[in-house]
Amino acid sequence: MKPTGPIPAGYETLDGELAIGGRTVSQLVEDAGETPLFVYSRRLLDQRMADLRAVMPDRLAIHYAVKANPHDNVIRHMAGLVDGFDIASGGELAIMQRLGMDAGPISFAGPGKRDRELDAAIMAGATLNLESESEAERALAIAAKNGMTPRLAIRVNPDFEMKGSGMKMGGGAKPFGVDAERVPELGRQIIAAGADFRGLHIYTGSQALSAESLIETQGNVLDLATRLTDEIGVDLPKLNMGGGFGIPYFDKDQPLDITAIGAGLEQRFANLPPRLANTHLCIELGRYLVGEAGVYLTRILDRKVSHGESYLVTDGGLHHQLAASGNFGTVIRRNYPVAIANRFEAAPIEVASIVGCLCTPLDRLLDKAHLPRAEVGDLVAVFCAGAYGATASPSAFLGQGPALELLV
Ligand SMILES: *Cc1c(COP(=O)(O)O)cnc(C)c1O
Repeated sequence: MKPTGPIPAGYETLDGELAIGGRTVSQLVEDAGETPLFVYSRRLLDQRMADLRAVMPDRLAIHYAVKANPHDNVIRHMAGLVDGFDIASGGELAIMQRLGMDAGPISFAGPGKRDRELDAAIMAGATLNLESESEAERALAIAAKNGMTPRLAIRVNPDFEMKGSGMKMGGGAKPFGVDAERVPELGRQIIAAGADFRGLHIYTGSQALSAESLIETQGNVLDLATRLTDEIGVDLPKLNMGGGFGIPYFDKDQPLDITAIGAGLEQRFANLPPRLANTHLCIELGRYLVGEAGVYLTRILDRKVSHGESYLVTDGGLHHQLAASGNFGTVIRRNYPVAIANRFEAAPIEVASIVGCLCTPLDRLLDKAHLPRAEVGDLVAVFCAGAYGATASPSAFLGQGPALELLV
């Protein structure tokens, strides 16, 4: 038997079933008309932001990294909660524009921006987080051609790493950002070229659960920003301090201590050097804001036994839940939080594996877990599905197609 990840706090039960937004999973699926189905909870999104605001310094702006979940209704809802958005492609910019979002508080990072993506961002008035000197040249040329003053920030590849992060994106040789020692010169160049210099972006990694290592990283980020700003020789307009706040996915993962992080930031913000005294300071979070607010619901199509082991076969799978299947950047496959959603309060009495409907051994949603007895027609909930689910999975694989998504 293998342990299952921790079910996020805040979910309701109704008539023995998992319920979201006051409706049982059976009702949600009936109203939606089919499975598989992603359900995102407004209440849990609101709660998460409220909890975060309560402990972070007032001065700290909180941005949403759209790539975690770019569903229209999620973005619309987040627009009422956060101070800005971070995007990482022209496609995400197009989504924001289609939704009528103001480009002012949008910044656009990501290596490999096409000319047409730079053009669209400059014309919209979004801030480009430059990933290289040559990208800076292209952005300046495109802006000049369009008669625009581009808003340019520099993404820094820091000269330190974040300890304990699930996915490192800074320190050493990296495809992201400009190596720290070359940043001052680039900064002076883009200011001399007449750009609207929007400051620095220092992103070190994702999915950190240790407050201690995040506090240390944030301190390093502020120290590095101070050094670079001194060398550029201007007051720093804006500092995107990165994010990396993780959520518990697996057994023994502990929720991040955001109170400690908030206190650490308060302390640092009280002692900022003159060049950072009026800097607009922000963090950018994806999964921390939306991950635990989403559930993936899939129906059991078959129950079978092979060599004494029980399998529950569902109509969902890794084509919507690549991460839960263990195939999105994990080395050792471990179980996400998963439950039989319409028997949410039933006692576990058997060991079974839950698989998807794809014809590949990779398609496993739960491995040898202790579960209530489930029957064909029952609903399985995969938790932590609010981030890197629907759009980070290969939904076209085997001709399956995308799942429905619902914000309730
Ligand atoms: C992916 C990414 C994020 C969001 O990461 P999470 O782990 O979802 O918080 C934020 N900023 C940048 C630059 C990213 O690449």
